[in-house]
Amino acid sequence: MSDHDFISGSKPIPLERGEGSFLYSTDGTEYLDAGASYACTPLGHSNPAVVDAVQEQVGKLTFVDSSFPVQSREDAYAALVASTHDGLDSAWFCNSGTEANEAALKFARSATGNSKIIAATRSFHGRTMGSLAATWKDKYKKPFEPLAGDVEFVPYGDGEELADAVDEETAAVILEPIQGEGGINVPPAGYLERAREATEEAGAALVFDEVQTGMGRTGQMWACQNAGVTPDILTTAKGLGNGLPVGAVAVRDWIADGAASHNATFSGGPVVTAAVHATISTLVEEEWPAHAASMGDYLTTELEATLGDEVREVRGEGLLIGIELKRGANRAARDLAINHQVLALPAGRTVLRLLPPLVIDQEEADQLIDALGAVIASDDS
Ligand code: PMP
Repeated sequence: MSDHDFISGSKPIPLERGEGSFLYSTDGTEYLDAGASYACTPLGHSNPAVVDAVQEQVGKLTFVDSSFPVQSREDAYAALVASTHDGLDSAWFCNSGTEANEAALKFARSATGNSKIIAATRSFHGRTMGSLAATWKDKYKKPFEPLAGDVEFVPYGDGEELADAVDEETAAVILEPIQGEGGINVPPAGYLERAREATEEAGAALVFDEVQTGMGRTGQMWACQNAGVTPDILTTAKGLGNGLPVGAVAVRDWIADGAASHNATFSGGPVVTAAVHATISTLVEEEWPAHAASMGDYLTTELEATLGDEVREVRGEGLLIGIELKRGANRAARDLAINHQVLALPAGRTVLRLLPPLVIDQEEADQLIDALGAVIASDDS
């Protein structure tokens, strides 16, 4: 059961094929993907470089234990480490975002010898016991308590409150550089820098959860690169394999030792790492992060001009965009899907979230703007 089932509601949209920025239903209808693939296909659907790499690897070697070196894993590892700031020199692969955060919190505890974890209000880090404990909303947590303990929440965006909470008992501060599920919340300038200073001073690990913000979406490979701040641990998943299930944790040397006693059977499997290598290489070589920055600017500017006073705010960075509506976002997402063949997801009750593949072009962006203009106008009447 998905949180997003309301989109098709009583009229499901059975999708069978994707290409670039579009998805196609079984009856051949074309839908613009403005977020249906949830940041998981930065290069668009059926990207040839990724499809070829995966098909070739499936035919060669599908699985072997991660203690044996395999070329696709070595290549993915090198590409991932090269894509991060200097300092994040080791990485570990896993299968999802929540698993990456779970590992990050374990590594931080083992490297510092501390247990306290500081997370932010309105955060989302995943649904396994540890990541869930660092997730804000009670709705996700209550039925499963008690979760992992010793988590303290501070208001997202307030650098001084965060700095006050960090002390010599702190193992980790975990933050999204821009919050996704919480409503596309962009923190004030200087926030990530303040988090960096405070954790460094206390000897705590700074974890940036880039599961939603990473892989070029905000204009650089990683959103923290926009602020010039390097964490001790960076977690990623979603778009890492352009749609294949894979996550990763990139760490500084002082964290890497604690990683030695952690593993998972499918860590760095040959097929998913072939996808990771093809995805990162293509993103970098074809300069899709820069395209995301310019298309993001275009969309944000045009949406502000088109929607004007009919919405509360258009915010975000690059192609991670939130439109704060005056009415419910579920209704707008349903209207977009059914009446305009545009698929987007809400982030919270009133925020419509745009997460198109980074390969969206201007004509497709204009289609999205027109559809949103029509939906918002009719919503207001
Ligand atoms: N962290 C963030 C910032 C996310 O947006 C998500 C998924 N929405 C997760 C972690 C969890 O990822 P997964 O669903 O792959 O476990």
